[in-house]
This record gives sequence, structure tokens and C-alpha cells, in this order.
Amino acid sequence: MSNKHCDIAIIGGGPAGLSAGLYAARGLVNTVIFEKQMTGGQIVTTEWVENYPAFPEGVAGVELGGLMTTQAEKFGAQIELFVTVTKLTKQDDGNFELQTDAGDTWTARAVVLASGSVPSKLGIPGEDYYTGRGVSWCATCDAGFFKEKIVAVIGGGDAALEEALFLAKFASKVYLVHRRDEFRASPIVVQRVKASEKIELVLSAVPVEIEGDGTRVTGLRIASTKDESEQVLNLDGVFEFVGTNPVNELVADLVDTSAERGHVSIEIDGSIAGIPGLFAAGDLTNSSLKQVISAAGSGATAAFSALKYLDELE
Ligand code: NAP
Repeated sequence: MSNKHCDIAIIGGGPAGLSAGLYAARGLVNTVIFEKQMTGGQIVTTEWVENYPAFPEGVAGVELGGLMTTQAEKFGAQIELFVTVTKLTKQDDGNFELQTDAGDTWTARAVVLASGSVPSKLGIPGEDYYTGRGVSWCATCDAGFFKEKIVAVIGGGDAALEEALFLAKFASKVYLVHRRDEFRASPIVVQRVKASEKIELVLSAVPVEIEGDGTRVTGLRIASTKDESEQVLNLDGVFEFVGTNPVNELVADLVDTSAERGHVSIEIDGSIAGIPGLFAAGDLTNSSLKQVISAAGSGATAAFSALKYLDELE
């Protein structure tokens, strides 16, 4: 319960926030990263990252997140772990005020928003009831519960296909249910999925209900997108990877979130038009590429611009 001050406050400790923290701290300004959970963001729930440069064999997501954290801290970024920023306002003196669920009030001369995104839900019957009883959004967390069992993965993007491959190491069978007959995932991942003997493609189909016995998931009812037919896949688990939604609640009243799906619109230097001192990076923003490398790059850009902004103030 106290008042604290920093030069650059970074909201979110994923690849964008940690890279912003690294660059800001190396600019020798007082830098604080606020992270409501563990640092590393969504990569800590990714088993293996094989498209981040300098790791030719790939790297475990949790290890990459840890390395980014260590590097930001090494240069002096302070991490406020398990702290949620609950309110962000711009004050008349140009500073920002941040209130946290720890009861502290911080002021900052500049802010980098890097709150990322969260997995979308399908919004179908049974989904809420069976969450944690067979319905999951995290294969690395829950795959171990499905050894020699049957699961379905929903979606046709990189997340769905990569996680289907991961689940195939545990499950006896993985249905990959996708609403079209073409995938938006990277061709190399599509190739691997098609080569997997354990993955059965169920294309042009959408989930309509998750069925269960009151305790656990027992089936997934799917409907064809080509005709009126429906069928039930008998299975033990459903993993949903149908996209992500930006975590924008904190700034919904402050900035333009009218871009597709509520992403924050940024300028090329990471700034937010009309709000001097406010920057954004990573999956929260309207950037076209949602990857670790682009999140890290945009975090660096936002911090560099924030440092320039502080210089110009002086
Ligand atoms: P995504 O690329 O947006 O894919 C979402 C998938 O879910 C799409 O195939 C979409 O179908 C399907 N879908 C959406 N709503 C649906 C609904 N209501 N019912 C059924 N299916 C639905 O999302 P993502 O895979 O989570 O990836 C998010 C971003 O992170 C992407 O930019 C992705 O490239 C990136 N990513 C990268 C990696 C990597 O490079 N290793 C790993 C994971 C994620 P349609 O195709 O028909 O729209």
C-alpha cells in the first residue's frame, strides 16, 4: 500500500514486455515490468519453439521465457510478479498513474502496453461445464492426462496443428477438427500433421456441443459445414485452439481498440496516436505477425521509442 515511481512501466511480461524491459533497462532508466502470472507469456505453454532465431534445434517455450526474463533482469529491469495493473490513467502533468491489485499506486513517465492475448472460446454447450474435466486450452499443461486416450483438437491455425502434433505423443488418437478444408497454419506444420498416423483430419466440420457423463467429457458433437449432417466423436478430451483475443480491458477507454478483434492500433514506432508517452507491443497490437520474434521486435521498438520520448521531455 504505497506510492511508487518509475520511468518506464511495462504492462505484461511475455516476449514483448520482456524485450521492452531489456531495451528500457539498457537505456539506464528505472524500468518496471508488471506481470500478473509467470513471465514468458504464451510461450511457456508451448512445448517447443523452433522458429526463434539462434536455436537451430528449437528451444522449450518455458526455457525461452526463462532466458528472456533473466536477460531483462540482468540489465536492471524490476519485475513485479503476480501483480495485476487494475487501472491506468494519464494525469494532467503528463505522467501515467497505475493502480495494482497489490494496493500500490505507481506513477510512470512512459508506459509500454504488452498485455498480450488469451485463447478464444468456442462458446458451445458443455464447454464451460467440462472445463478442467476434459476441455482444455493448453496441451503442454494437460496432455499427460490423456495418455492412450482419444482427444479432439479444434482449429486450423499454427496453434491447433502444433498442439495436435504434441498431443499425438500422448494420446492414442487425435481428431483434428477444422471448419474448412484448407489450413492457415504454416505449410511445414501442415505437412507433419498429414504425415502423422495418429492424427485423423475431420474437415469442413464445426463443434456444436461437448458431451459428457456429468463428470468427464465423453464426446464431441460436430456439424458439417457442407450439408446438414451431424455426428458425435467419442473421445475423452477437447483442446480448443480457435484464435486469441487481445487483453485490452485496461485501455479500452483510453485508446482505439476498434481494429479487428479489439487489437490496439499502433504507429510504426510503437506509439499510440494522441497519447504521448503511451506505447504498445506484441499480440495486443494490430501487427500482422503474431510470433515470438515479432513480439520481441515490437517490444524493443516500443522501448526504444519510449526512451526517445523521455529524452525529448528533458
Ligand atoms: P489463428 O491463426 O487465428 O487460427 C485460429 C483457427 O481457428 C483458424 O483455423 C480458424 O478457422 C479457427 N476458428 C476460429 N474460430 C472458430 C470457430 N468459432 N469454430 C471453429 N474454428 C474456428 O489462431 P492461432 O492458431 O491461435 O494463432 C494465433 C497467432 O499466433 C497466429 O498468427 C499464429 O501464426 C501464431 N502462432 C504461431 C506459432 C508458431 O509460429 N510456432 C504457434 C502458435 C501460434 P479459419 O482458418 O477458417 O479462420
